[in-house]
Amino acid sequence: MAETVFQKIIRKEIPADIVYEDGDILAFKDIHPIAPVHILIIPKKPIESIATMDDADALVVGKIFLVARNIARDLKISEKGYKLLIRVGKDGGQEVAHLHLHLLGGARLSENIHPV
Ligand code: 5GP
Repeated sequence: MAETVFQKIIRKEIPADIVYEDGDILAFKDIHPIAPVHILIIPKKPIESIATMDDADALVVGKIFLVARNIARDLKISEKGYKLLIRVGKDGGQEVAHLHLHLLGGARLSENIHPV
């Protein structure tokens, strides 16, 4: 798969506001936030999308949800709630071909899923 901007962020070749990092996972603030809290949580392994992930990737993909849970707790948005969003492919609106989980919160968020 082609190199994405997220791989450059993982390698610290371009800056990002990193909020969590371990051997498998990186979490950083979205450059164009659509909510008061908007964090992207990604596996360091360049998995393109949910549609193309291998069965063996299930552990690391599961781990991105645990990291989202922990960040939400740290940011004190856990009790009020938040959204977790993964876009998949063209119809899903995925722009960066490196699997990422959006953590969105800090306000009551509207529903805006409709065909374009
Ligand atoms: P997608 O539409 O693929 O689900 O979401 C991609 C997200 O990545 C968008 O919300 C976009 O703002 C974010 N993004 C794209 N390029 C960069 C970047 O260079 N740095 C950061 N922090 N976020 C980015």
